[in-house]
Amino acid sequence: MDIIRLYNDFNLEYSTEGHRHNRPGWVNCTCPFCTGNPGFHLGWNIRDEYYCCWRCGWHSTVKTLSELLNLDWVYISDLIKKYGINRSIINQKIIEKKEFEFPTGMDNLQPLHKKYLKLRGFDPDEIIEKWKIQGIGIFGKLGSLNYKFRIVIPFFWNSEIVSFDSRDVTGKAINKYQACPAEYEIVSHKKILYGNQEKWNTDLGICVEGPTDVWRIGEESFATSGIQYTPEQIRVMANTFKRIAVIYDDDPQAQVQAKKLIAELKFRNVDAFNVEIKGDPGGMTNKEVKELLQKIKEKWKK
Ligand SMILES: [Zn+2]
Repeated sequence: MDIIRLYNDFNLEYSTEGHRHNRPGWVNCTCPFCTGNPGFHLGWNIRDEYYCCWRCGWHSTVKTLSELLNLDWVYISDLIKKYGINRSIINQKIIEKKEFEFPTGMDNLQPLHKKYLKLRGFDPDEIIEKWKIQGIGIFGKLGSLNYKFRIVIPFFWNSEIVSFDSRDVTGKAINKYQACPAEYEIVSHKKILYGNQEKWNTDLGICVEGPTDVWRIGEESFATSGIQYTPEQIRVMANTFKRIAVIYDDDPQAQVQAKKLIAELKFRNVDAFNVEIKGDPGGMTNKEVKELLQKIKEKWKK
């Protein structure tokens, strides 16, 4: 379907991969289904022709178009026919696989990176030691993406670096996190969990949203890289842990996702439960984390 022509014809604002917060192969617009942050979260996958919002997940094409265009469902199938399938776009978007690489310009943390960590209540030396992070100053690129002023967070899987994520330290970037482009990843960061597999307690896993939450909660925890977890990640969780405590932030959409995740895990015989906190786990103090973990472990013993 020629979604761009359709969006243009209906005067709908969208962004494509020319914008740096768009993954290649997706056309994004505002999601009509989720609450909280506005933003271009709803993606249309050009090659496989489906909608997925990175905050609230998969949506049927007909229902989504009807919401976006404010048209009754009965008109939508005609519209889909009218805008057809654009083969030339599909063929252009097949990703060519590349060797794994980190962005250029990556080196030890500079004062600006350490300052960011300290402001967020982290001990930079401890985070460097435990999580092998590195920093990028004014120059840093990979593919068409710019990684300047970011902390680079390697993703290990079975003791190998397979991908990375990065965190802006200036507070000015549109996308706080910017992951490794898909064509450079050895394993997609959305098919695995972020954390230190060797330190996990398979009797009780603690699931959080992002790497900085893992740094805060500690080595027993793991992250789904966003609240939009994937079926592959659920499979990994169910194969690894007997019980899982989910600690997403208190944003309404994050809580919707937490509850969906718990239902999915229970369906796969994982004893999953939700832990509601104020704010996000990354913002807690070490003392609060200690008390929370104590509470979780007591609940688990019952
Ligand atoms: Zn959404």
